Amino acid sequence: MMLAPRLEIDLGKIQHNARTLVERLAKRDISVTGVTKATLGSPEIAHAMLLAGVSGLGDSRIENIEAMRSSNVSARMSLIRSPMLSQAKRVVTSADVSFNTELEVIRRLSLEAGNLDRTHAVVLMVELGDLREGIMPADLMAAVSETLNLPNIVLKGIGTNLACRCGASPDDTNMGELSRLAALVEATFDSSVEIVSGGNSANLEWVFSSENTGRVNNLRLGESILLGREALHRNAIDGLHTDAITLVAEVVESKFKPTQPTGELAQNAFGDCPELVDRVTVAQAILALGVQDVDLGGLQPPKGIEILGGSSDHLVLTSAAGKLPVGAEMTFQLDYSALLRAMTSPFVGKSYQPASNVTNLRRIA
Ligand SMILES: *Cc1c(COP(=O)(O)O)cnc(C)c1O
Repeated sequence: MMLAPRLEIDLGKIQHNARTLVERLAKRDISVTGVTKATLGSPEIAHAMLLAGVSGLGDSRIENIEAMRSSNVSARMSLIRSPMLSQAKRVVTSADVSFNTELEVIRRLSLEAGNLDRTHAVVLMVELGDLREGIMPADLMAAVSETLNLPNIVLKGIGTNLACRCGASPDDTNMGELSRLAALVEATFDSSVEIVSGGNSANLEWVFSSENTGRVNNLRLGESILLGREALHRNAIDGLHTDAITLVAEVVESKFKPTQPTGELAQNAFGDCPELVDRVTVAQAILALGVQDVDLGGLQPPKGIEILGGSSDHLVLTSAAGKLPVGAEMTFQLDYSALLRAMTSPFVGKSYQPASNVTNLRRIA
């Protein structure tokens, strides 16, 4: 018997998505850092990205980078969230590069790198409007100056992150500002800015429509590789698979039930009040899947299935085609939030389909 619930992960499709993006962006002289943070540092997915030609891997958690290292994933690895002071030693031990916004942290990284007799590379993140991480542009030159003077630290480049907190969109203005800052650093300090990392999957619409992508020569891509969508409007990207990863769950109850609850209605398990619906009877099924496994709001059920509600361990839905058999499995598409939660839930199994010709033949047949 297969585990349920489980993620079915098609490594061939992930590799195809990554390769397509790598090739399209190469035409713009932009390299791709494959972001693994939504995968709990899965070595299988990391390998698929590397086979597709990403220039390195990025993750927001040092635990995931450590896990990939111990699974012998061999790549340049970047910690893309500002390191915690308390993890500085682990960061210089396992990550080649870290993205930083606080000099106090970079000083500690310098110290720990010195203790380990190694060099650690730093990318300085700049705030360009989304109000998440980033040094204010006016303070960048001072930060660069101090970073360049720290022993055992090399300044690899600058970067920015948009669209994650407030949805501030990448455009010619903010990306132009990043390019201008890269040029200013070079002119001021007579040192080259090797990496200008323009952002994440929310940058793709801008890259493919802009006349001039300036100095931007790297993007950090997670969602677009894993789910085949850009992250501003969640549009499917031409030629990419949007079903490389799906979630399978099992029916544990199937009965005809009224849609209207009885009794006086108060709060449910999560403090919501269930909506009142028409007084009809429907084929209702319960799947062994809940908030402990996935973000239920990010599930897209198959045609003819409507999700009615859910709680910690139960997903309640109705099937237009009548009663579903107990034990039947159902496959859902996931959004980024659902993917992240399922990948990091200890209750959700993972079934990898290797990238092979056999898989391709089976798909065609
Ligand atoms: C998560 C993250 C990314 C990747 O974002 P996607 O939208 O999944 O491509 C890139 N950069 C930073 C700093 C991140 O935190």
